[in-house]
Amino acid sequence: MTRAARVRRRLAIVLASCALAAGVFGVALLLSRPPLPVVDRVQQRGELVVAMREAPSTYHEGAGGPDGFEYALVRGFADHLGVDVRFVFPGTLVELLDDTMRGAVHLASGGLAVTPSRRQRLLFSNAYEVVDEQLIYRRGSERPRSLDDIAAGDLHVIGGSSHEETLTSLRNGAHPGLGWISRRDVGVAALLDALERGEIRLTIVDSNEVGLSQRLYKRAAVAFDIGEPRAIAWAFPKRADSSLRDAANAYLREIDNDGRLQRLRARYFGHAGRLNFVDTRDFWRAVRDRLPAYRAMFEQAAADTGLDWRLLAAIGYQESHWRADAVSPTGVRGIMMLTQATAKQMKISDRNDPAQSITGGARYLRVVEKKIPERIPQPNRLWLTLAGYNIGFGHLEDARILTQRDGGNPDLWMDVKQRLPLLAKKKYHTTVRHGFARGGEPVTYVDNIRNYYDMLVWFTTTADDATRERLLAQADD
Ligand code: GLU
Repeated sequence: MTRAARVRRRLAIVLASCALAAGVFGVALLLSRPPLPVVDRVQQRGELVVAMREAPSTYHEGAGGPDGFEYALVRGFADHLGVDVRFVFPGTLVELLDDTMRGAVHLASGGLAVTPSRRQRLLFSNAYEVVDEQLIYRRGSERPRSLDDIAAGDLHVIGGSSHEETLTSLRNGAHPGLGWISRRDVGVAALLDALERGEIRLTIVDSNEVGLSQRLYKRAAVAFDIGEPRAIAWAFPKRADSSLRDAANAYLREIDNDGRLQRLRARYFGHAGRLNFVDTRDFWRAVRDRLPAYRAMFEQAAADTGLDWRLLAAIGYQESHWRADAVSPTGVRGIMMLTQATAKQMKISDRNDPAQSITGGARYLRVVEKKIPERIPQPNRLWLTLAGYNIGFGHLEDARILTQRDGGNPDLWMDVKQRLPLLAKKKYHTTVRHGFARGGEPVTYVDNIRNYYDMLVWFTTTADDATRERLLAQADD
């Protein structure tokens, strides 16, 4: 081998080993690179997987698909990240928490309380809600006044829930005699079902759930609050890094600062608790005894006007309790309680004829809606329309002006609702064009209709046959 050849060979060996070393180094570098933060992986994948609990306060099937406070909150977060959401529904609360802990989902939502023992296993976002845990007793049975009134076999609670944790700490503290039955197999709906049927007498439900549930469970009555208020938050696996939780906190801060969180609360809980026991019973009684005669008419009017028949039916119930012969001292009459002038304007010849009244009411709702500025989107548009339908568009405009003067947003029902009652006060109604009006009435009116509408949606969409039967059976006593 010549010298030149030897040099070339050595050079080749050196180069080859350099390349090898570089390759090994590169692979090592790749292997040692820290994994992508969870939030980046979620964004890369384009999907947030969320464990959810089904309940009126969290997630349920609504008029236009899934709905509920927690649902809306999670959707907002997913939009903020620019990803889709996939909801999974573990069978029990214990499974939901376990799945989250072992990282089978990105986060868990569903009115979850932040408790000391959960904090050891899970990472929590900042709180977006605070609830009281309320002892519920079966209406008609004796109302417990204190924890000492609770017989051990009477109280059934969800196993592994914050409610059970509250009871445990009370028992370890000042109430060593406290006893209860822990039910690992059920959720809040099953317990309220059992209470309604008379199988159990006491349970514990979060306060935000109580207002919504009382529309569906007439027997559920509040005895008193147990323990301290609880913060509600999203739970994340602890084994993952905290990037997704941090992103959630940033999102929650943002919607808290710009008012969106408050609007969501108002939207999902603002009207709850308005109906009392008698209102609820009478409503289900009318659904059973009177609605069937008019349902097809509401459906027809809805089809003609592009509205939801259940909304029209809810208005009809609020107006006349579905009585075709209803008359008021002010001269309005019929199922939809139209004035003579409105009936004429809507080309209705006989206000007492239920089909005509319903058609007239539906058309009139559309007329009022057209007057609401186009920029206002749903659902505010609908609530403002209903208020205008009730009190007259001019007065609604006055209330919107008062809202604006007061620094509120005249396009938000939540803000206008607060100022409508001012129309009854001289100090205010003398400053607006249409003068005095009983402005508290449209607020009750809209709240009631929202409750009836929710209840009809529940009845026709969410409820299974057994639930429907139970709801109608509530009318009996
Ligand atoms: N807030 C309860 C908890 O965190 C859940 C309520 C329920 O399951 O109804 O355990």
